[in-house]
Amino acid sequence: GIPVCECNSCFDGPDCSVFVPGCPADVNSGDPLFLEPFWMQHAASSAILVAGWHRMSYSFDEKSSITSQELEKRIRRVHAIVGNAVTDQRFIVFGAGSTQLLNAAVHALSLDNTSSPSAVVVSAPSYPAYKEQTDFFDSLDYKFYGDTSMWKNTSDVSANVIEFVTSPNNPDGMLRKEVLQGPSARAIHDHAYYWPHFTAIPAPADEDVMVFTLSKLTGHAGSRFGWALVKDEAVYQQMLKYTNENCFGVSRDTQLRALKLLKVVLEGEGREIFGFAHKTMSDRWGKLSEALSSSKRFSIQDLAPQYCSFFQRVRGPSPAYAWFKCEREEDKDCYRVLSDAGIIGRRGTLFGAGSRYVRLSLIKRQDDFDLLLLRMRKLVAEEGRVE
Ligand code: PMP
Repeated sequence: GIPVCECNSCFDGPDCSVFVPGCPADVNSGDPLFLEPFWMQHAASSAILVAGWHRMSYSFDEKSSITSQELEKRIRRVHAIVGNAVTDQRFIVFGAGSTQLLNAAVHALSLDNTSSPSAVVVSAPSYPAYKEQTDFFDSLDYKFYGDTSMWKNTSDVSANVIEFVTSPNNPDGMLRKEVLQGPSARAIHDHAYYWPHFTAIPAPADEDVMVFTLSKLTGHAGSRFGWALVKDEAVYQQMLKYTNENCFGVSRDTQLRALKLLKVVLEGEGREIFGFAHKTMSDRWGKLSEALSSSKRFSIQDLAPQYCSFFQRVRGPSPAYAWFKCEREEDKDCYRVLSDAGIIGRRGTLFGAGSRYVRLSLIKRQDDFDLLLLRMRKLVAEEGRVE
């Protein structure tokens, strides 16, 4: 028959039930497939069917608009029910994933009429794409300068400084605020994970440039859809120019799909999807924490319970990633310690941290998480035996 799902890499056979022996727990990537069961439960209401002749045009309407106004309205509505961002008096720019908007924002903020290039900074541990992109595009207008701490006490900076602020942070899930203040400091707030799945929502974000992505909201990373909420019209116009020059806007098919997905997100004022996502993530965090609670050799980040305005109660942590640390002197290469135990994470050094750290993704399919838990329990049990 027709397979109802794709097999995970550790499973085989017609119904994906045959475990491939010795297969490692691959928790490297941030592929958000933990939401797949939700969309299976909402398969019909979230489906789109597009006939071959339909929506062939560059534009949506006779006004030649290349962004869907309906989608913009729906995004504002999602933020309103979640309470995670202020959208009043904000312009919206669409991007091919938030990835495109990160550089679009750097570009826009660096056009400041000063002769020296803007300095792009971020506090470690940080998501590597900010540096990768900034270096790759190699512009005369900006340069990647490294860690924010280098600039903290510098009041005599001649260049503008553009600070990336990831909140909650990838990899450690911490809610962050900008470190740099002052007239020459601008910030890009990356709120990819600022959804009830991954964190308490203490208050709506109200910053000048805020970036969000469908990837971590609905889990549709492959659709490549992100948006930025921008206060300043000149910055908005520059970001729009960037996406227009680059690819003439986001795929209209993608916008259509995003529109349908967000319709389902809004059902029951978001209770369904956020209920499912939060439950899944907090269950995973609870189990992993429990597995590591007796360990002296390993630890994961400490995240405090916090009041969440969406759930209207104090709630425990449910981060997208575990920021795993090897505590012992001899375990300097923590990635190696884990890979020897059949767990493939992502090296801490990639995030600007030491080799004692490894990021473990908790947002993949349930099978991946279950295998991680199995292998982790075994590793911790062996620690008891050695001592
Ligand atoms: N920002 C952060 C902090 C991320 O972790 C990711 C994806 N892992 C992105 C942005 C980019 O996501 P996308 O391009 O799929 O929107």
